[in-house]
Amino acid sequence: MSEVETPSNFIQNKIEEELKSSSFTVHTRFPPEPNGHLHIGHAKSICLNFGLADKFSGICNLRFDDTNPSKEETKFVKAIQEDVKWLGFDWGNQLFYASDYFDQLFEFAIRLIKKGKAYVDDLTPEQMREYRGTLSEPGKNSPYRDRSIEENLDLFQKMKAGEFEEGEKVLRAKIDMGSGNLNMRDPVLYRILKASHHRTGDKWCIYPMYDFTHGQSDSIEKITHSLCTLEFEDHRPLYDWFLDELEIYHPQQIEFARLNLNYTILSKRKLLQLVEERHVDNWDDPRMPTLSGMRRRGYPPEAIREFCDRIGISKSNATVDFALLEHCVREYLNRTATRVMVVLRPLKVVLINYPEDQVEEMDAVNNPEDPNAGTRKMPFSRTVYIERDDFMEDPPKKFFRLAPGREVRLKHAYVIKCEEVIKNSDGEIVELRCTYDPETRSGATQDGRKIKGTLHWVSEDHAHKAEVRLYNHLFTQENPADEKVCPDLKSSLNPDSLEIIEEALLEPSLKNAKGGYQFLRLGYFSVDPQKSASGDQIFNRVVTLRDTWAKIANK
Ligand code: ATP
Ligand code: MG
Repeated sequence: MSEVETPSNFIQNKIEEELKSSSFTVHTRFPPEPNGHLHIGHAKSICLNFGLADKFSGICNLRFDDTNPSKEETKFVKAIQEDVKWLGFDWGNQLFYASDYFDQLFEFAIRLIKKGKAYVDDLTPEQMREYRGTLSEPGKNSPYRDRSIEENLDLFQKMKAGEFEEGEKVLRAKIDMGSGNLNMRDPVLYRILKASHHRTGDKWCIYPMYDFTHGQSDSIEKITHSLCTLEFEDHRPLYDWFLDELEIYHPQQIEFARLNLNYTILSKRKLLQLVEERHVDNWDDPRMPTLSGMRRRGYPPEAIREFCDRIGISKSNATVDFALLEHCVREYLNRTATRVMVVLRPLKVVLINYPEDQVEEMDAVNNPEDPNAGTRKMPFSRTVYIERDDFMEDPPKKFFRLAPGREVRLKHAYVIKCEEVIKNSDGEIVELRCTYDPETRSGATQDGRKIKGTLHWVSEDHAHKAEVRLYNHLFTQENPADEKVCPDLKSSLNPDSLEIIEEALLEPSLKNAKGGYQFLRLGYFSVDPQKSASGDQIFNRVVTLRDTWAKIANK
């Protein structure tokens, strides 16, 4: 929690220190692999890399690390660009692809072979695993390790020419099979993959491994601070070895803790599984922790950036409370969202002493937090709808809403009193007959009697219907990413993560809804880009009104 109260960013502090003794242009990059959509964890990395470039008037590249043709697609490249832009960052002309470096990487491999630092290996993948050893046992040298430089050059060219099948041969670095760091035990540099690449087509049938690409790409782009998550700490000696052996520019790698969020999965592989097994609508399902899901749900990008600022950047892995993210969303929407009235589960109220054909235009304040937001007109008439939950026939003491013989205020309008309850033949309440007090239009009662409850409402003749979707966490477990707790994703899915209300009633101003609103007393909602099956608008609940984070933080 302390990390949250005082957001700190050790990388920013370090760069500030460096800039005191030398002058350079800070150059970072965000390097996604285009094999899925971006999630909130990536947002942390985007805000960090682009944020540092902004802060120090530097440069941030967007680079697609597209070394694995079998999983990567152009549609993901497009979606990632859209997400980065939506989050509020601009890479200008700095758009790159690791695949643009395939020729250069091939040449790097040749250079290593010529130095006697790389060899073609014929071991099968199973044999390689056996030879690799374990954390407690050293590995064994491959019998092919001592091939001559000439033979290696010849075989590697033949691999490139497509003369071998997948899995038949690989190119490996010749480092140390006895190293305590498994990454240094002669890692594979190139494998044969007879797959079309989304950018290079069929030009290549050998592809460089991620580890042989990432550090060199940073070097080629002259990245000054190569920021990555902690799991790459053990890869750093390998990246250093490549850069040193190739004698090329050496960026500084700094690792930071990845974002983990409770009730959330942040792994593209598992998110893909949710999509493929149809547990969610798609990558942009509003319950998904993807940026496209959050955008559709109605999370403002400003709130996500604020969240990323507040969690800070540190070296120790921790799990952040989802309530903090919701708090940032709520805080932003509280400042900016228009307050409107929507009834989710309507109950008809007829005001028996209100003139039949009269319509009054009530003044409604758009946002009490923002005086510049102004007011709008709300039509009021003889028949209105209130929330079913706001009426009880036989209420407990502390129920300050409507009940037989009791009074409540209708927001922006009059005080009403329940005179009669109408039921159908099944005994269900279908209508309330009430009187209104004409003296109370947007003001106190004449005789000074106190009215405790204020209800939201809509006017029957002026309301329109829409579908409203209420969301909850997709998982019931606090740590669904932990395979010990959740061996399979399915069993920890929340069966109540989506509740659909097909016919909510909305005040007329929402006919042309755009963006986020506060539905009074209900929460924050945002209009969905799609229409319902019956052609109505759809509203997504962005976040509830109740702030559990504020409670936690004030403890
Ligand atoms: P995933 O585990 O979801 O598949 P990844 O690391 O494989 O993610 P990449 O496309 O390689 O996905 O990630 C691009 C960048 O985003 C990398 O620099 C990576 O370190 C960073 N990143 C990914 N997940 C997180 C996270 N949870 N928190 C912070 N940074 C992250
Ligand atoms: Mg990765």
